[in-house]
Amino acid sequence: MRIDLHTHTLVSDGTDTPTQLVRKAAQEGLDVIGLTDHDTFDGLREARLAGEEAGVQVLAGMEFSTERRGASVHLLAYGCDPHDEALLDELARVRVGRSDRVPTMAARLTELGMPLTVEDVLRHATGTSLGRPHIADAMVEKGYVAHRDEAFRLWLHEGSPAYVDRYSTELTRAIELVRRAKGVAVLAHPWGRGRRGDLPEAFLAELVLEHGLDGIEVDHPDHDDDTRADLRAVAERLGVIVTGSSDHHGLGKRNNPLGAGLTHPDAHAEIVRRIQARGGRP
Ligand code: AMP
Ligand code: ZN
Ligand code: FE
Ligand code: FE
Repeated sequence: MRIDLHTHTLVSDGTDTPTQLVRKAAQEGLDVIGLTDHDTFDGLREARLAGEEAGVQVLAGMEFSTERRGASVHLLAYGCDPHDEALLDELARVRVGRSDRVPTMAARLTELGMPLTVEDVLRHATGTSLGRPHIADAMVEKGYVAHRDEAFRLWLHEGSPAYVDRYSTELTRAIELVRRAKGVAVLAHPWGRGRRGDLPEAFLAELVLEHGLDGIEVDHPDHDDDTRADLRAVAERLGVIVTGSSDHHGLGKRNNPLGAGLTHPDAHAEIVRRIQARGGRP
């Protein structure tokens, strides 16, 4: 069984439609994919239908934009009730936070010598969740950078002069919202991109023991081999589910081909078992 539990479509900031993503997954020999678009469930219906045709099981997911002490943390949510009002209200608020800063960031880039309008960015908005990747796409179109990675590295990362902060849900509250919506909560790529110091083992333990975190994503392209080994040991000490994924974004990320990280079938089965035990829909 080949299981990749973290993927994106153009409903957020990937470049495939849900149908294209599922067909590609079938071609790559994947048996299960988790569809985890940012802060929305909007791609799930189409992906499930395509999955039935292509013989790929689609695990309903979502990647929640959260924060701890002002730093961004991503939380994967599986099997949530997509009609849960408290969760939907919060996701809408987060999406507004993502898109609200586009005018300010466009103005800052303009001041930095890269003229950009909101319309330039909106031309690249493909779905429900707008974000920095779409600003990056507009910068590529204007010829300011070669690709999304360069846009992030030079101009869009947290701390860059063009970066504008935004609202996202406090992490422990996000876990609570996911659990109340009958879902399973897995911390996404916690030690990627130099974030290891922000989320030490003692804090991860608190998330598990006091807030009901179910799992940790270990085999992710942003984690090098040493990081994976250390994080896997932490997950084993805490007794949580270990997942792996590609974080595929279509052409939007170059280091993340489908199947680049895989989840063990036992871990996938445990996620499904917990969703069912909570009354959710895997
Ligand atoms: P936003 O939610 O608007 O802050 O944008 C976050 C999105 O940007 C996530 O999908 C990330 O995968 C993507 N992202 C963050 N950092 C980078 C990077 N260095 N290169 C490419 N994409 C990135
Ligand atoms: Zn993304
Ligand atoms: Fe992420
Ligand atoms: Fe992601």
